[in-house]
Amino acid sequence: MELEPVIGLEIHIQLKTKSKMFCSCSNIFGDVKPNSAICPICLGYPGTLPVPNEMAIQWTQLLGAALNCQLAVKSKFDRKSYFYPDLPKGYQISQYDQPFCGTGELKIMVDGEEHTIGIERIHLEEDAAKNTHPVGANYTLIDYNRAGTPLAEIVTKPDIPSPAVAKVFLQELQKLVRLLQVSDADMEKGQLRCDANISLRERGSTKLHPKTEVKNINSFRFVEQALQYEIKRQTKEWAQAGPSQIQSTRGFDSSTGQTTAHRTKEAAADYRYFPEPDIPPFTFTPQFLAKITKQLPELPSTKRLRLQQQYNVSAQQAALFVDSPILANYLENTISEIEQLDNEQRDIALSDRGPLVKDATNMILRHLRQLVTIGNLSAADINISPANFAELIVLIYQGKISKNAVAPVLAEMQRTGGDPDHIIANLGLEQVSDDASITKQIEDVILANPEVVAKVKAGKDSALQFLVGQVIQKNKGKANPSKVMELLKELTK
Ligand SMILES: [Zn+2]
Repeated sequence: MELEPVIGLEIHIQLKTKSKMFCSCSNIFGDVKPNSAICPICLGYPGTLPVPNEMAIQWTQLLGAALNCQLAVKSKFDRKSYFYPDLPKGYQISQYDQPFCGTGELKIMVDGEEHTIGIERIHLEEDAAKNTHPVGANYTLIDYNRAGTPLAEIVTKPDIPSPAVAKVFLQELQKLVRLLQVSDADMEKGQLRCDANISLRERGSTKLHPKTEVKNINSFRFVEQALQYEIKRQTKEWAQAGPSQIQSTRGFDSSTGQTTAHRTKEAAADYRYFPEPDIPPFTFTPQFLAKITKQLPELPSTKRLRLQQQYNVSAQQAALFVDSPILANYLENTISEIEQLDNEQRDIALSDRGPLVKDATNMILRHLRQLVTIGNLSAADINISPANFAELIVLIYQGKISKNAVAPVLAEMQRTGGDPDHIIANLGLEQVSDDASITKQIEDVILANPEVVAKVKAGKDSALQFLVGQVIQKNKGKANPSKVMELLKELTK
C-alpha cells in the first residue's frame, strides 16, 4: 500500500498599516522601546471600544482578490475567547463563519509544472502581545506593542501534494503580498508565520484522517524540513498502528530537524466564538468590491501566461522573468526596440523578428540575469539601454560579432553606457570571416598540434573541436566559429 501526504497551510501575515487594528496606536515593528505603542484599547481596559481599521480591511480584500477569492458581501468580527497573559482582554477579535474572503486559488510553477493550490478563506484578526522568556529567569516579559496589530490569516485547502510544493507556495505568497505592498512578509521578523497541517492517506483515496499541526515555523526551508520529517514519522506510525485517530499539535526544532509533541489541540467549540458586539457587521456593495479588484497590479500567474503567449517564451523562462520584474521590464523594452528597428537600415526582414526576440530572451536570461542577480543591480544600475541591447542582438544575429565576444562587449557597454557599434570597433572585436587572415592562424595551429591533427584525420570530432578552440583563442574570439570549422576541415584533409 502506498501512502501520500495531504498538506494544508495556515499563514499569518502582519499587515503594515500605519495604525493598529482597532485603535490609533502606531503599528510599529522591530527595535522600539517595549510597551511604548499602547493605549487602553489594545491593553483591553474595560469600557473601551474598538474601531476597525479601514485600510486593514481593504488590504485583506485586495489580498483576497489577488488570490481569486470570493469577496464576501456580508462579513463580521467575532470574539475568540481564551485566556493568556499576552491577550489582556481574555479574547481575541477575529472572524469565525463570515470572513472577508471566501474560497480562491493560487497557481504556482514548481520545477516547470503548474500547480493550483486552493484557498479556503482569508480572515482578519488582531495579533496578541509578544512574550519573552529570558533564559534562566522565573518570569516572563510581555511587550504589548504587538497587541492589537492587524493579521490576515490565509488558510489553504488540504491539496498541497508535497513539502517542496508547500515551500514554493509560501515563497510565491511572499512575493505576492510584497507586490501588493500590504506587508514586508519577512519570515525571520515574524511578519509571515506559517503553521503546516499534514496527514497521510492511501494514494488515490479522498479520505481525510485527523491531521498533525506543526506550529510557528519561521523559514521556508524549515517548512519543507518539518513536513519531510512528519511524512517519515507518520509513515512509521501508520505501519505500526494504522491512520492517526486524533488531531495533534507539534513544534519544529530546527537544531534537530525534528518535530515534538505539544498540548492536544482545543476543538473550535472551546474558543466559544460569538459575534463581536462592539463592531456592527459589514455589508459591501458590488461596486465597492469591484473597485478593490480594479486596484490589482498584474499578478505573477497572469504575467507568466501573457509573456508565454505574447513573446513565445517557454513556461520556465516566463517564470524566471516573473521572478525578476527588472528583467521582465527589460525584456519588454528590448522587444519593443526590436519591433521599432528600421528594417531597411538594419538589413533585416520581417521574418527575422521572431528569431531576434528569441535571441533577446536567451541573452537577457544568460547575461543580464547574471549581472542583475549576482551583481545585485537595480534597474537604475543597468547602463545598457534596451535600444543598445537590441542593436547588439541584431549584430550577433547578422554574424557581425562572434558569440565569444559578447561577454566583453556587454561588460564594456555596462561600464560606459556606450552603443555596441562603437564598442565593437574600439575593442577590435568585429567578427573576422575573411578567409586569408583566419587561414594563416589555422595553419599555425595545425603546425603546433600534429598529434591532434592526426586524430582529426582519424575522424575524431572532439579533436576538431579542440583545434577550433585554439584558433578562436588565437584571434581573441573574433573569428566566426562555423567559418573556422569549415576551413579547418578543408585544411586537415
Ligand atoms: Zn492601542
